[in-house]
This record gives sequence, structure tokens and C-alpha cells, in this order.
Amino acid sequence: MTQKHFETQAIRNQLQRSQYGEHSAPLYLTSSFIFDDAEDMRASFSEENNKNIYARFTSPNTTEFVDKVVAMEGAEAGYAFATGMAAIFSTFAGLLHSGDHIVAARAVFGSTHTLFTAILPKWNITTSYFNSATAEAIEKCITPNTKILYAETPTNPGIEVIDLELLGAIAKKHNLLLVIDNCFATPYLQNPIKFGAHLVIHSATKLMDGQGRVLGGIVVGKKELIRTIYLFARNTGPAMSPFNAWVLSKSLETLAIRVEKHCENALSVAEFLEKHPKINTVKYPFLKSHPQYQIAVKQMRMGGNIIAFEIKGGLLAGKQFLNALQLCSLSANLGDTRTIVTHPASTTHSKLSENDRLEVGITDGLIRISVGLEHVSDIISDLSDALSIL
Ligand SMILES: *Cc1c(COP(=O)(O)O)cnc(C)c1O
Repeated sequence: MTQKHFETQAIRNQLQRSQYGEHSAPLYLTSSFIFDDAEDMRASFSEENNKNIYARFTSPNTTEFVDKVVAMEGAEAGYAFATGMAAIFSTFAGLLHSGDHIVAARAVFGSTHTLFTAILPKWNITTSYFNSATAEAIEKCITPNTKILYAETPTNPGIEVIDLELLGAIAKKHNLLLVIDNCFATPYLQNPIKFGAHLVIHSATKLMDGQGRVLGGIVVGKKELIRTIYLFARNTGPAMSPFNAWVLSKSLETLAIRVEKHCENALSVAEFLEKHPKINTVKYPFLKSHPQYQIAVKQMRMGGNIIAFEIKGGLLAGKQFLNALQLCSLSANLGDTRTIVTHPASTTHSKLSENDRLEVGITDGLIRISVGLEHVSDIISDLSDALSIL
């Protein structure tokens, strides 16, 4: 049979069904599994035979979820975690040793930044940042101890697009592992492995679930790297629960159609905002005005669902705007069916100094919007009404 398309794999890459022949995936809520006999038990522990032993290691539901994402990203193997941060921490903690060094894009998720600055240094693992993603700026950060090159694209919340092909080439030249947090793009829009990434990480909490229900994380990539991360996770306990894996595996069945609609809505909203007189700048990867538009269309299928825009009037206008919204939610999540608006300077990035904020493009008037699946006219009306009071 020919290789099936993304949508078909997302639906049909299912675990073998039980004796009951259920059509939809059953939920296996069990913390352990039984062995046929003493010999089976010995073999399960001593060999790599993929048998489920204990749900802290693997479970049928997590395996189904992982197998789908592995196929979607064109990876060799993967492992699922309780949260995106558990996936990110376990990747670094599993692969790195004291003295190792990371080179990372300056604009990374807030907790990832804290990991680099406050947590990994406890074990003498240090990080250098590049502000602009040029070969020169990145190579300046590389030392003989550098092991991992790390980035997110598009970035949060500034919506910069980083050239994955360039990162792949630098990683190859300097013999580094390229690790990409692909959460904003999802495997439907962007596959970093094609550009040379060794590992791809997702917070499944966002567009993968897409309905604001469960937390989850996953790492996929090279088999031998995943094996090392798996051994770390198996013995430290950050595994995804079977229930969350069951929810997320179901969610993946509709990922393509949901993400496509999210992107369509987001492009319309971005075009509306770009024309609005009370807005200074709009950053959306698939707007022609985006500084890295050419890179975005090279590496992404569509532009994603996150828009950053700069409202005229700074902090005060930003707050007034948020308070005037009737439909859009003020919430700390993204990638939900519901449109969510945040003000990074007073929330997610409030712990950064103003200088650090400006370095990653977070001005006082910056608003981030995660465009949902409500009718796009209703989303635009809400934004338009809220802007009209300014
Ligand atoms: C949310 C997020 C994470 C962390 O994921 P959790 O599931 O909240 O732990 C990591 N990276 C990016 C880009 C995110 O948006």
C-alpha cells in the first residue's frame, strides 16, 4: 500500500483493537500489566520487546498517541510526557552532562527560559543566547562544550520566524544536536526533521489537544536519542497519563482540519488588524509584511493561529483593550477552540526586566492573540468593538 496522507494516518494509525472489536480507541486505565508466566515476566524486563510493564514506562494509550506523532513528524521514535515542560526538561536532563553547553534562541517559552537561567545551571549546564538568527550570531555562541542548538519557531510571543534550514546546516557543521520546540506550528504546518532537526518537542496542551482540556508533551526524533530520554523518564516519572493520551490521540484525528481553519481565521484577523488605524504593527508569518515572510512560506504550510500586534498607546491602551473584549477570553493558554488574548508584558513575561522584554520584542503595547474556531466575523467584530473605545 502507498504511504497514506497526514489526515488518514492521524485517524487510522491505531493500536490493534481488543477482543471486543471496538471501533473507537478504548481507554486502558491500568497502572500495571500482567505477564503470561515467569519466563514472560523475565523477558519483559530484560529485553527490548515493547511489552507494557508499568504505566510509568509505557501504556497502550500513550503508545498510540506517540506512534501518531512519530508518523506526523517523520521521526523514528518518541516518548510522551505529562506536560510540554516535562518533555523539554527531560530532553536536556536526559541527554546532557555537567559542563555541557546549550546555544538557544533568545525568544523561548517563559518556563524554558527559567530552565536555562535558573534550573539547569544547578548541574553546571549553561546556555548562551543568540538574539538574531543569523549564522554569524549563532556561531559566535558555540563553544567546544556546546552539545545542543535549541529554538522555537514561530517564537512566542514576538512571532519571529527562524530559518530551520540555517539551523540544520549550523548543527551539522558543528556536530550539534538540533532540538526544535514545534508547538506553535504543530506537525501539520511544519516538520523540522526535514531541515535537519534531531529531536522535535511539542506541548500537546496547545493545538494538539486544541480544546483546552488536558496537559501533555512529547519528544520525537532519532531512535537512539529517544532511548536515552526514555530511560531518564522511565526512572524519574514524568510520563503522560493514559487518560490524557487517550484524549490527545482522539484530538490528533482532527488536527489537520482544525489547524487549517485556525490558520484561515488567523490570516483574516491579521489582515483586519493590519489595516486598523489604532494598531502600529502586526506580526503574522503569512502576512507579506512579515520580515521573515519568505522563510515562513519556505518552511510552513500555513501561518499558524498566533498573531502579535502592537496597539497604539502602550500599557494603558493595552489594558483598556483587554477589558473591552466581550467574546475573546483572557486566559494563559493558546491553541484552543476559543480565541484567547494575552498581554505578555503584564503576565507571562512580567518577571523579565523591561530590557530583557524589549530584547525579545515585548513592548508594553504588545498583544498576543490565539485565534480560535469561532466564526471569524464574530472574532473580528469583538476586536473591532474593543478597539473602537480607545
Ligand atoms: C505551552 C508551551 C510549552 C510548555 O508546555 P506545557 O504543556 O504548558 O508544559 C513549551 N513551549 C511552548 C512554545 C509552549 O507554548
